[in-house]
This record gives sequence, C-alpha cells and structure tokens, in this order.
Amino acid sequence: MLREGRIAAVQQEPMAMDFTEATMTAKIAAATHGWRAKCLQRLIRLEMPVPHTVALPFSTVRAIAAGKKLNNTGLLALFGSGALVSVRPSPENPAWGGPATVLNVGLNAERHAQLTQSHGQAAADAMYLRFVQGYAVNVARLDPDMFASPAPKAEALAEALRRYEDEMDEPFPQDPGRQLSEVLRSMARAWEGTSARLLRQAKGAPDGAGLGLIVQEMAQGFGQGLSGAGVIQFVDPLLGLPQITGRYLSQSQGRDALRRTEAIYLTRDKRGASLEEAAPDIFADLLRYGAICRKGLREEMQIEFTIEDGNLAVIDAVRVPRSARANLRIAVALANDGVISEEEAVMRVEPRSLAELLHMQVDPRGPRDVLVKGIAASPGAATGVLVFSSTEAQTLAARGESCILVKRETAPEDIRGMHSAAGVLTERGGMTSHAAVIARGLGLPCIVGASDLRIDARLGLLTTPDGRKFREGERITVDGTTGEALAGVVDMLPPGQDDSFQTLLGWADRVRDIGIRANADTPSDARTARAFKAEGIGLCRTEHMFFDADRLVVMREMIFADTAQDRAAALALLLPMQRADFTELFSIMQGQPVCIRLFDPPLHEFLPQSREGLRDLAEALDKPLSDVTRRAEALSEVNPMLGMRGVRLGVVLPEIYDMQARAIFEATVEAARQGSPVVPEIMIPLVSARREVELVKTRIDQLAAAVRTQTGASFDYKLGVMVETPRAALRAGEIAQHAAFLSFGTNDLTQMTYGLSRDDAGRFMNTYVRQGVFTEDPFHILDVEGVGELLLIGAERGRKTRGDLTLSVCGEHGGNPESIDFCRQAGFDYVSCSPYRVPQARLAAAHLAL
Ligand code: PEP
Ligand code: MG
Repeated sequence: MLREGRIAAVQQEPMAMDFTEATMTAKIAAATHGWRAKCLQRLIRLEMPVPHTVALPFSTVRAIAAGKKLNNTGLLALFGSGALVSVRPSPENPAWGGPATVLNVGLNAERHAQLTQSHGQAAADAMYLRFVQGYAVNVARLDPDMFASPAPKAEALAEALRRYEDEMDEPFPQDPGRQLSEVLRSMARAWEGTSARLLRQAKGAPDGAGLGLIVQEMAQGFGQGLSGAGVIQFVDPLLGLPQITGRYLSQSQGRDALRRTEAIYLTRDKRGASLEEAAPDIFADLLRYGAICRKGLREEMQIEFTIEDGNLAVIDAVRVPRSARANLRIAVALANDGVISEEEAVMRVEPRSLAELLHMQVDPRGPRDVLVKGIAASPGAATGVLVFSSTEAQTLAARGESCILVKRETAPEDIRGMHSAAGVLTERGGMTSHAAVIARGLGLPCIVGASDLRIDARLGLLTTPDGRKFREGERITVDGTTGEALAGVVDMLPPGQDDSFQTLLGWADRVRDIGIRANADTPSDARTARAFKAEGIGLCRTEHMFFDADRLVVMREMIFADTAQDRAAALALLLPMQRADFTELFSIMQGQPVCIRLFDPPLHEFLPQSREGLRDLAEALDKPLSDVTRRAEALSEVNPMLGMRGVRLGVVLPEIYDMQARAIFEATVEAARQGSPVVPEIMIPLVSARREVELVKTRIDQLAAAVRTQTGASFDYKLGVMVETPRAALRAGEIAQHAAFLSFGTNDLTQMTYGLSRDDAGRFMNTYVRQGVFTEDPFHILDVEGVGELLLIGAERGRKTRGDLTLSVCGEHGGNPESIDFCRQAGFDYVSCSPYRVPQARLAAAHLAL
C-alpha cells in the first residue's frame, strides 16, 4: 500500500545518514534539489496522490559521485519493508537532461517470488526484467542491445539474468541496499561525465550545475484489479489549444504507454477503447488533477500516472513539451484565466521564437531529406521549382508557379526576381549580404553561404555535397529557419499570428521603453510594418525604388548623361515617380515618422552586368555599344563599397539629392493636403566628415525654402546623419552640429570597423566562429566590444553637442534582443529593423523593461 503525499528532504550533510521527514515544510528549491523535487513537493501540497518521495540535494549527489557512502538501507527503510523504489534525475532546469530513470530498485529473487504470488508470474517477471535491464544498461554499463533483444516473453527474465552474470562474472546483486547504492552512484557519476557536461552546457547550463535525485516508492502498475500506467496532458503540443491527449497501457509501468502500440487513448472517440470508458471515475480524477496543476503550478503540465488495483497515483508531472506557437497561446490563455499575470505571460515567450509564428514552417513531425546546410538568413519555409535566374523566377511567378531562386549570390538587379520567388538559396554571402537583407525585408525564407553547393546556372544544375544532382524545374524546399535546403515537397505548418499573438504583443508594448521602427523601402514593406505595429519607418533605402523596369531605364539615362543638362532632364523624369513613392509611404504611415535615406549605392550597380544587357541598353539609349561599354567600365571601381557612394555621390553629383529632397518636400505638402501630415526625416548616408553634411544641408535647406515658396505651404523636416564609418562615430560631436538625429548603420559600421567585407565574410565566418576568433558572426550579433564602443562614443559626443539629439540603430542588428539591450542601456531612442522582425523586437524590448 502506498504511503501517499510525503516528501522528505535528505539533510545537507551526506554522511549524517539521517532523513528528516518534512512533508509540507521541507525547504526544497530548484537551486538545491532540482526542478523535479520542487515540482513533486508542489504536487503533494496540492494534495495529489504522490507516492512517498525522498529528495536528495545537489550536495549529497556530489558527495556520492566523489565516493562517499550513504546508509542506503536506512534510506530504503523509510519506505517500509520490501518496498520497491524508482530513482529519477532532478537537475535545476529540465532542459539540462540527466541520467535515465531506473525503476523497481529493491527487486530480487525473494521479492520476485512474493510478487509472483501476489501479482502473478507475468507481472512479477515484467517488473524484475525491467529492473535487470535498467541496472545492466545504466549501472553496469553493459551493451543495451544485449538486453533489448526480443527474447520470447517467458524466458526473457532468465535470459537477462544469465547475460548479466556472463558479462559481469557475478550474480545479479540481491541486496536492496547495495542495489540502491549502485544506482545512486552511477547516476551521480554519469552527471559528472564529460559528454553529459558538454551536452548540458550547450543548453545553457553553468559549469557547476548540480543534480538532485528523487527516490520514490513504486506504484506498481501491475495487479489483479485495474492496473496500468499512462500519461495525460490537456493541451495540444503543436497549437496549444485545449485538447486532452495521452495514452494508457494496462499492466505497465513508467512511460511504456507512449512506446507501445497496444496502449489505448484516454478519451472516448472513434478509435475504440479508452480509459474514459474503462474507468470513468479515474478519468474524472485525472481531469480534476489537471485543472489543479494548471492553477497551482501555473503551467500546462503533462501528468504521469499509475493505477494499482484501481488506486490512482501521480508519479510525476512535467511542463508540456510544446512548439513556439503553442507556448505563446498557453501563456496568453493562462494570463486571460488569471492564473499568471500579463507581464509573466510576456516573459514566458522567447522573442526569437516569434519568427516561427510569422511564416510557414516545416512540420517538425515530417521526414527531412537535407541537401545542404548554409546560414539561416531569413526564417520560414517554402517549396518551389528550382530556377537559376531572376528572369525565370519572374516568368514562373507570372504563371502562378512557386519557385526557389538559386544563385551564387544576388545583386540589386535580382530584386524583382526575389519578389517573384517563394524562397532564395545562395552559395555565397553572410547575414548582411544582399540576398539576406532583401529576403528578411520581404519575409522570404532564405539560406545564404551554402558554400558546399555547386551551382551551374548555365546548365541549370545544382549539385549537393553528396553528389546528388537537381535540375531546373525540380522541386526543393528552403527552410530558412534552420538554414537547411530539403529535397522535394515537405509538410508545412501555416503561420500563427492569431488573437493570442496580437494580445501578447499588446501587453509587451505597454511595458517597453524603447521605440521600435521598421526598415521599409516600398509601400508593401510599409504596410507590413504597420501590420506589425512599428512606430514609423526608421530607414527607407530609396535606391530600392529605382529597380522597377520603367525607372531603371530613366536611371540609366541619368547615369549615362554626358552633360548636366541631360542629367537634369533624366532627373526631371524621376522626380514625379519619387514624389508618388513618398506620398504613398506617408499616406500608409498616417503621420508616423518616416526616415528617408538619400541615395546610397555606387552608380554602376544600376548597369547591366552582361554583354547582352549592355547591348540592350545601347539600343534603349540610342548610343553605340562601345560608348556604353566604355562608360560602364569608367564607372566600375576596384573597391566600390569604399568608393563613389553615399554622401560622396551627393557631393560630386548633387543633382540626385536635390531631386530626392524636392520629391520628399512636395510629397510632404501633398500628404498634408490629403490629411496625413508628416515631419519627414532625411538621412545622409556614409558620412565621414562634418563638411559633407554642411554641403548637403545647405542645398536641402534651400530646396525646402523653394518648395515652401512655390507651394505656399509650410512644413517642417529633420535632417540627420547615418553613422556608418568609424570616423563619423569619432567626430559625432561636430557632425551633430548639423544633424537633428544620428542613426547608426551597423552593417557598414561593422564592415568598416573590422575591415571585413559584408558580402564575402560568409566564406570564412564559420571557421572563424568555430575557432573562437569571433564568438558570433558580428554581422548577425552586434560586436558590443568594438563596434559597440564606437556607438557609445558617437552617442556621447553627439549628445554633448546637442542634448536633444535622437539616437537610433538601423542596421540589421536593430531587431536582435542583444542589440536592443545595448541600445536601451546606452539611452538610444529607437531601433529599426526589417518589418518581419518588428514583433520580436517589441517583445525583446518588453523583456528588458520588466
Ligand atoms: C547599414 O549600413 O547598417 C545600413 C543600414 O545601410 P545598408 O545596409 O543599406 O548599407
Ligand atoms: Mg550602409
């Protein structure tokens, strides 16, 4: 008969050999006895029928591992004569694992004979066999295969005992005290082993993480009356919706019900027999315990139970294992039911896990045939036919076909191809390469830096590292969440931005204390930004507006203009297009701040790369091919990212910025007329000297005055500087004389601080991280030591000049919880990130504020 509802804590001094029974008052904490001990104590306090339990603290287990001996006969005596016990691991955090549970400790030939009398031969054999197997594998460390062999049932026990004796050269231990000592010692030592240590450290366990052990009287699960064991939970682990699931297996122990096909379901349904029908009272008790657990433990728990001759025992309870989406829904439901506070619900959802809810995901239950692994550059998953060019992607999209664009790397001219593709896979590149940045902006699953792939675009052939060949038109799947490309079509889960998602983020917004804006270049980006409740646009990269077919031609005309007059004519054609762009952005953002960056990339990025393209261009411009080729060559630079780009273009060819500023001001007037008044923010890229800002500012101020005069309207605007070069950070004090805000472009700033090409670093980044040169890819996680110091210097010097200077980060780091933490501590006003990362940023900011 079980002695229910008691948990004893072994005294801290392991040699004391004295066990204090302290049913309700024992001080059992996760930090001293582990999570399982704490959980069991709570179950007992909630008056669940938990068998008698003893919890050994970390200090005792450490002493056992070091060779000290406990009085285990004394420990066993606590459970009454002839009792069988189980031993389970209890680390501080369940994620840190621990050695396998051993059941039925205390069983020997004598007890086996008694059990044969009381429970019958089959039950006695099954229990003894289970112990012998557990002991042989986990304590004597014998080959598991040797003991898992499916010998005929009647002989299985004798066979296992014989094998044990053969291997160990001694009979199976019969003294229950010795059995328990050996089990405790082997579990304690397994925890100290190197592989266990490495495994738990990978899951975030600290160096000295301790293990507690739980010794619990066995509830048999075998008997003449209704006996068995099972597991029940009350929510669905994938979606988090209320649903009773679990299994029960008659005449069984532990978690057998989850492993064996003859187990039955718990609820009545069309699948046949159920525990609900077989034992309605017990089923009703389980439901009641579930509700008590949810309230008392403030969590959705999975309960492990045993029934012995019709008596229900709760053996253990663990947090229901769950997907990210289920976790969010459970947290919101618990808060809505008043079980936890809204703040706690916010804290229970890991910001990075939200990515899983914004996009399609590969169903984790399905098979995965991995072709190659690269850098997970943009989350979500998509299946489509392979295409090797942007043109082909557009053709297929026009036919309504989903396609995966595969390229060595993408360039600005691929933007329309990327828009048309369902997913992107590149051989080269890193977290801030073109493909990665654009894909994140579009919410497109993307893998970059899959350097083990071989891509032959000419033959339309992709070869995987293991030599498999995939041709244009074949289907593959891009899993941008894991960075794996998979063969064929796979099962997917749809995105999960339901009411719970909106509710949780609403709670997060109420507590956070740093602004979150979005990087948005197009009306569609801006709509996404609004849908995700960004507080404005922190970076509009205007060059992305020039890649639509009609604009590209005019842009090229502008680049090829021989005279200032011709250039002005081309710019005059671009002006109304840009004005329309900005008017639409302002209208979508409805008065929220919009920060527009003036033209940034080197001009040659707008020229065709192929000879065929150059010929088309010559035709369009009505110029000889040789002229066009010469001009293209003249524009090409040895090191374009450090060449004629950003403000340098603005200083040398000021007409481009003039046109953009005029378009912004005219759109501001128009937006106000349409009822969306806005104070536009104009941002100058790649500044390194104060004089650059002065030159650009003078012209922009003049243009504002001119537009005010021409339209008779009054409007305000802010002019700011992007800090992307180390010199701009160092000279922020004088630069701030002419800037209302500084926005740190940490992509270029990282590139220039390290002297590391953001487009090429993918090639060696893995090696660098593996060898510990960098702890993380600095294009992915802000380098707080180096780049971060420049941010702090820039912020401090800038604010010294101008106390009300607005500070922000708009590089790809902006959405990362670590960068948000850094910016918040440095007193920044906001961060700006890709629209699809806005939810994660809102939640991360709330975590930091709580
Ligand atoms: C940056 O450099 O951090 C930035 C935001 O600009 P871009 O990525 O367009 O160079
Ligand atoms: Mg930049």
